[in-house]
Amino acid sequence: MTRLYNQPADFAGELTEGFVAANRDKVRLVDGGVVRSTQTPKGEVALVIGGGTGHYPAFCGLVGQGLAHGAAMGNLFASPSAKQIYTVAKAADNGGGVILSFGNYAGDVLHFGMAKARLNDEGIRCELIAVTDDISSASVDELEKRRGIAGDLTVFKATAAAAAAGYDFDEVLEVAKRANLRTRSIGVAFSGCTLPGADHPLFEVASGKMALGMGIHGEPGITDVAIPTADDLAEMLVEKLLADLPDDIPDFKGARAVVLLNGLGSVKYEELFVVYRRVSQLLEERNISIVEPEVGELVTSFDMAGISLTLFWLDDELEFFWHAPASTPAFNKGSPLREIPLEDTVAVADQHAEVSTASDASKQSARCFLGALKAAQSVVLGNVEELGRIDAIAGDGDHGIGMERGINAAVERATQLVDKQYGTGSLLIEAGDAWADKAGGTSGALWGVALSALGTAVGDEESPDARTVAKGVAMALNNISQVGKAQLGDKTMLDALAPFSEALSNAVNNGAELEEAWHQAADVAKQSADATADLVPKIGRARPLAEKSVGTPDPGAVSLALIVKAVGNFITRTKSLAA
Ligand code: ADP
Ligand code: MG
Repeated sequence: MTRLYNQPADFAGELTEGFVAANRDKVRLVDGGVVRSTQTPKGEVALVIGGGTGHYPAFCGLVGQGLAHGAAMGNLFASPSAKQIYTVAKAADNGGGVILSFGNYAGDVLHFGMAKARLNDEGIRCELIAVTDDISSASVDELEKRRGIAGDLTVFKATAAAAAAGYDFDEVLEVAKRANLRTRSIGVAFSGCTLPGADHPLFEVASGKMALGMGIHGEPGITDVAIPTADDLAEMLVEKLLADLPDDIPDFKGARAVVLLNGLGSVKYEELFVVYRRVSQLLEERNISIVEPEVGELVTSFDMAGISLTLFWLDDELEFFWHAPASTPAFNKGSPLREIPLEDTVAVADQHAEVSTASDASKQSARCFLGALKAAQSVVLGNVEELGRIDAIAGDGDHGIGMERGINAAVERATQLVDKQYGTGSLLIEAGDAWADKAGGTSGALWGVALSALGTAVGDEESPDARTVAKGVAMALNNISQVGKAQLGDKTMLDALAPFSEALSNAVNNGAELEEAWHQAADVAKQSADATADLVPKIGRARPLAEKSVGTPDPGAVSLALIVKAVGNFITRTKSLAA
């Protein structure tokens, strides 16, 4: 959906004006598109690129030193006219002839071809390079019929770098052809795009499906399949590309390739990185060296949801040209800053490898504490949504998922450490670290503090008794207050933890067994957590929307009450935790 426009018909022209206004140091407006606003040496072969508008950073974003000399810009998804291309080419020509390069689409071929004829008539040397990287659009026997997608970039880059290196026209043309033959891409689409002013998408993909090989303007793909996981998609794309090698790459083992993982418009960079993670693993497993990859939006299709993967198979010369510097509004390479790679870091030794020196009793009770953590885990997992819901009323809604991440990490770490014969104290400290690392958020940090405090109080010497546990809980309360700086009544987890700790200590001091004392205290925690509904938050993320929170209990207090209740039930079931 495109939301911001004036008159739909003015969109392409207005975005060009704005683009130029924002990038005057690199480009200037001419009839039909843009050219460099910086000097190019006389006689240098000019690369003029172009195509429809709506594919930013293609094409205008790629004009500047080290890349294109000019870009002809058509209307939305429409080829520029022959006249537009001609005018841009005339403005970009430095006396060395012009190479016109564009994605291989019928309209573009026609208009760029006519522009070429016109330039030739005037005695300006001109040749066409229609980029044909999309392997899904025609078989390998009909390379010349393939469409151009994100592989435009590698072809443009190699061509322009050859021109900048002073190659003559024929040499630049040969580099361009070779780069095109060695660039292979495949894309998928999850949904179509909606042009400014349109009330429905230009094309659609059935919901939950993915069109494998669909073109950037909705050209039909190979098949529709259910949307796979990120890893499965990475595998699918890599396999297809490795089955479509350029003739002069007989075997990919030991080959070097630039990898582009391109987002088509509304796939998040974060998602792209998840996919790229697997792509890079797969290529490395096959002994392919990845050279200066790009992950991001390189050729888009408005707000289309989709991605494409490109492999640009290098030889020494093409690799040199890929590394060459470029400075354009959307694509930069090389930095004037000195960037000297760090030495590979020595692998950090596994700090948990040693078997701890805990007493047998402490090792034994470590198993009980692991059981208690698991009981906490199951109650948290059963309440993720509810905790998120109450956090969303005045906070940011992440309390459930934060607690989930935290307790999962704590259980995972504690499970490993039980196997390594850790004592209870060290196990709790480590589990607290794992919780804080993974949970994020305020409550994650505070739960980390709480488990560390408990672990410190309990130690690795003895199996903790009721008094030690109560002391540990009091220490957890103390440390959370110090770190979080909340006061009682501020509407935080402290408003459940403080009464819990007090009730636990009182009951134990009055001679109660741990099981009984814990249950009494857990009931107090539950009442106190419920009572936070009446409070107005004075600290934390809920404070700015304080009034909204009245009537809803504090999420951190609620989760604490749920956890201590579940641990109480665990103690009753197993009659253990502490001696
Ligand atoms: P975030 O607030 O960072 O999104 P969560 O949503 O996981 O973290 O946790 C929110 C809970 O953290 C609150 O409901 C409250 O109980 C607790 N909390 C926030 N700030 C403090 C603080 N300074 N001291 C004690 N508890 C706090
Ligand atoms: Mg939150």
